[in-house]
Parts: sequence; C-alpha cells; structure tokens
Amino acid sequence: MSEHDARSAQDAQSTTGLEDRYRDALLPVFGTPQRVLARGEGTRVWDTDGKEYLDLLAGIAVNALGHAHPALLSAVTKQAETLGHVSNFFASAPQIELAEKLLDLARAPEGSGVFFANSGTEANEAAFKIARRTGRPRILALRNSFHGRTMGALALTSKEAYRAPFEPLPGGVEFLEVGDVPALEAALAPGDVAAVFAEPIQGEAGVRPLGEDYLLALRRLTREHGTLLVLDEVQTGVGRTGDWFAHQAVPGLQPDVMTLAKGLGGGFPLGAVISYGPAVHDLLQPGQHGTTFGGNPLAAAAGLAVLGTIREDALLEHVRSVGDRFARDVLALGDDRIEEVRGRGLLLGIGLRAPIAKQVVAAALEEGFILNAPDERTLRLAPPLIITEQDLGTFRDALPALLEAAAAEGEN
Ligand SMILES: *Cc1c(COP(=O)(O)O)cnc(C)c1O
Repeated sequence: MSEHDARSAQDAQSTTGLEDRYRDALLPVFGTPQRVLARGEGTRVWDTDGKEYLDLLAGIAVNALGHAHPALLSAVTKQAETLGHVSNFFASAPQIELAEKLLDLARAPEGSGVFFANSGTEANEAAFKIARRTGRPRILALRNSFHGRTMGALALTSKEAYRAPFEPLPGGVEFLEVGDVPALEAALAPGDVAAVFAEPIQGEAGVRPLGEDYLLALRRLTREHGTLLVLDEVQTGVGRTGDWFAHQAVPGLQPDVMTLAKGLGGGFPLGAVISYGPAVHDLLQPGQHGTTFGGNPLAAAAGLAVLGTIREDALLEHVRSVGDRFARDVLALGDDRIEEVRGRGLLLGIGLRAPIAKQVVAAALEEGFILNAPDERTLRLAPPLIITEQDLGTFRDALPALLEAAAAEGEN
C-alpha cells in the first residue's frame, strides 16, 4: 500500500470520513446523524473521536440493560454457539420459554398466546391483522398516536406528515381526541368497531399519559361493545415505567391484545404480540400470518436475558425509585423554564414553557448527555433501566445551564 493509500484508508475511518461515507451509502430518511458512535458500556457510549456520553435515551427506550451488559452478552453468545436461527417450521426451547414468561408477567389468563416479531411496527401490524379478523370494518386510534412506519401501523398513526406521502393507507381507521369519552362512546355505539389502539403513555407525542380514568373508560366501553382493546406498549413495556407493563399500574386494566418491542430484546431486534384469553386466540388462523426471523432462538435468548435480569436485579423497584426521585429533583430546581415533568418510572418528558427543546438537546450533546426532543417543548429521557441516581443527578445538575444556553441561542 502506498503512503497515500494508507492515509486515505485511515481518513476513511476518521469521523468526517465516516460521515461522508454515511451520506454516500445510506438513504437520507434519518437526516444527518448527530454523532458516529463507536462503543458502549453500561450507561455510557463513546463516539469515534473518543468523547464520552451519558446515554439518557438508550436507543429510544431499547437498551434496557444499558450497553454490553454481561447477562445479555453471555446469553446471546451461548445461544449463537448452540442454535442461532431456525425457521418457524421448527420450535426452540428459548422461544417457548420466552412466550411462557411473557404470558406470566402479562398476567394473561388461560387461553392466551404470543406471536413474535422483530420490531414494534411489525407487532402492531400483526395486531391490525387480528383486528381485521373480527370481521368488523372500523378501527379507532388516538390523536398524536405513534404505532410505527409500515403501511398498517402507519394507518394507525395520526401524524399527517408521516401519512400523507404514502396514501392510500389501509382504510377504516378513525382518530379520536385523547380523553373525549363521549366521542369514544359515540364511535363505538354502532357495534362495528373491531379494535381501539392506544399507548398507555404516548411516547412520541411527548411522553403524555392517557390517564387512569380514560384508560378505564377505554376498557369499559370496548368491552361493552365487543371491541378489542389493543394496548401498544412498545415503548412503555418491559419495566420502562416501573411495572412490567405500564397498564398494570391501573388496577383491573387488562387489554385484549398488547404489543411489545423496543426494550424486550435489550438491543436485539425483537417484538411480540400477546393475545389475552380464548376469544382472541384463534382470530389468526394457521397460515394467515407469519415471519421468517420472529422469535428465533437468538432473539428469544436476548429477551430471556432482559426479563431475567430485570427480575433478579429488582429493576422494577429501582426504576420507580430513581425515576420518581429524578422527577421530584427536576421540579425542585424551581427553574421557571420547566413547566412540568410527565411520565412514569424511566420514561420521562420534561415539559418546557418555551419551544427550545431541540436547542437543549444540542447543548446537552455538547456537554456529553444523550436525550431527545419528541417535540419543541419536550425533553424525553428513556435511559437504561440500570441507571443510577448519581448519573441522573449529574444531568439534573447540568440542566439549568443547558436551558440557559438554549434560551440564549433562541434570542440570537
Ligand atoms: C417505537 C414505537 C413503535 C415502532 O417500533 P419500531 O420498532 O420502530 O417499528 C410503535 N409503537 C410505539 C408506541 C413506539 O414507541
């Protein structure tokens, strides 16, 4: 290799080299990446310039155990050495065990069942197909909902900017205002609604809880009208809010279908649909749905490692205690640029009075904190469930200066 070639090979690995190659090789759907990341450990990641970040976003509520967790590493390694993938013409013990654990944690009654997918959108796609199989033509979803980007999940997602370029989408979906019980009642009254889709806490909408009363109204009215209640717990599930699943914080609330993904595989692509009870069990008949990868032994081993670690390390209690403490401490800053803290456990939205959330996120990144702004007035935190009070304290201490920097930039 000539000296010149050696230098260009090295340049190609530099941060600017990688950014150029990203632009040349990947489709532009995500815009310009904020950084090129090189490695992670626990709650920290490092970029290709060696700069360290406290990861308060966890790959958008995915890295439940943080980065390179020994339990996840050893489970995936061991499974890859034993049996990595088989088609769904065959079963495997990890897949069966994960399904049983999920049914148990979901407190699903006799006659319930699991379908594995690889992502949140696919889990919702499967739930959509279950809903269609009721034979009823209409489906309800909520304003500001987010259920994914494939055509079916997109049909359930209200954001016009996501939908408009892809119309026509699968039909029959109508959107309701969150909290409007009379509208819900009127929409369900004709008895031709297959399902209502809802996130217990609307994550992409800015971490906005539906509230216990509305969730219970959804349950009561769907039951009255023979309509399925589908809870999308892709973001809120698997310990994120300090319960195994967010809806379990509401006494007596049991959905007919629940969808999961994000934290379930701890970074390994894995989604799931849980159908509750015998009435839903056989809506999808043999041959009516499928997947090549879904629930393969490798993904199932990852899921088992995540669930096992949450239980063994008592992470639900931990999530509740550090999450509550952090929310209180942020409010106790008494900063009048902060309006409120929404959410539960470690899915938190810091509501700002001014539309400066994107600037705060940029300033935070410079200071070594990764978080995001689902809208202009919300800072979202969804850190690894293993995050310590000290780590969260570092961010809380830095927050006033970050708000100051962002507000100053806004005035310029
Ligand atoms: C992220 C998300 C999805 C989509 O999941 P993907 O894995 O990105 O397809 C669906 N629903 C909710 C509530 C989500 O937060």
